[in-house]
Amino acid sequence: MQTKILEINESALQLCKRIISEGGAVAFPTETVYGLGANAFDTAAVENIFKIKGRPNDNPLIVHVYAGYDISALVEAVPDYAKRLAAAYLPGPLTMVYKSKGVVSSAVSCGLNTLAIRIPAHKGAQSFLKYVNLPIAAPSANISKHVSPTAAEHVFNDLNGRIEVVLQGGKCEGGIESTVLDCTGDFPVILRSGLVTREMIEKVAGSCGEYVYKEGVAARSPGMKYKHYSPNCGTVLFAFDQLDKALAEYRRQCENGVSVCIMCDSDVAERIGEARILDLGKTEAEIAANLYSKLREGEQTADLIIAVAPEKQDGAMVGVMNRLKKACGSK
Ligand code: AMP
Ligand code: MG
Repeated sequence: MQTKILEINESALQLCKRIISEGGAVAFPTETVYGLGANAFDTAAVENIFKIKGRPNDNPLIVHVYAGYDISALVEAVPDYAKRLAAAYLPGPLTMVYKSKGVVSSAVSCGLNTLAIRIPAHKGAQSFLKYVNLPIAAPSANISKHVSPTAAEHVFNDLNGRIEVVLQGGKCEGGIESTVLDCTGDFPVILRSGLVTREMIEKVAGSCGEYVYKEGVAARSPGMKYKHYSPNCGTVLFAFDQLDKALAEYRRQCENGVSVCIMCDSDVAERIGEARILDLGKTEAEIAANLYSKLREGEQTADLIIAVAPEKQDGAMVGVMNRLKKACGSK
């Protein structure tokens, strides 16, 4: 089977609806990364998603619904702070974890009694979700542990032959996965950082905790314990104030005949000059949006990526740093 990349129109949506209703999987764009979706009520379809990706079977999936979908059918009472957060930031790159009513397949949450729900803002995602009119369980549409896809072509490169259709939604604007927020307690707790930042959550909810995964302890968000986002080449990460060391390493590798490039923001790129650069851009939004496509570009053109961390470390850069560390920590 050759995977087709299809523009989002009536006939493509019809085909997707048929695939989903028959228990298949469809890749679709969102504003964060591309997702690989299946009917959340259909256990075989959900299990198939894990097979297609090679995803560990204890790493639960996020259920995606269209704006206006009545989530009270899927989850128990939504706390007040969560309602305020939803009003402020949804549709958008924020996933909220609630106590599950247990009506979707238990394969979605891998046996947890909670359910993660997301309402993506991307127009193409909304059209797809509205058209199929089902809650869609969807992880990122990449081979497990590879870099998440932020373009239809990235999905094609990873999953060609394993799925029938990728809906074409262009480059993902956000570029890193959604913030995952536990809304089962008295106050929200960030399980995974993303573009809806801790500051944004505190502003609306009053307070916000942050979960830190410790090795050896059962993870509150099982995805946290896995190495993710790794390109298929060597990677090494330097702090912003270690630029000299990064450059020395670059030269040393070049002298040894290694094909190497430096991944950094535009300001650092200007200062460096002569090196092979994967330029992440200038603003925080650009850096997040370009991170995964630059990692994928790097793995195709080099044996080693030397990454230099952004100077700012708060706000949206918390999520970027989390991904950079995971991308560079597994080698
Ligand atoms: P992905 O869609 O590949 O970005 O992965 C989904 C992320 O959401 C993983 O890190 C999961 O651990 C997390 N997640 C999904 N469902 C739940 C849940 N019920 N409780 C906690 N975390 C969840
Ligand atoms: Mg993923």
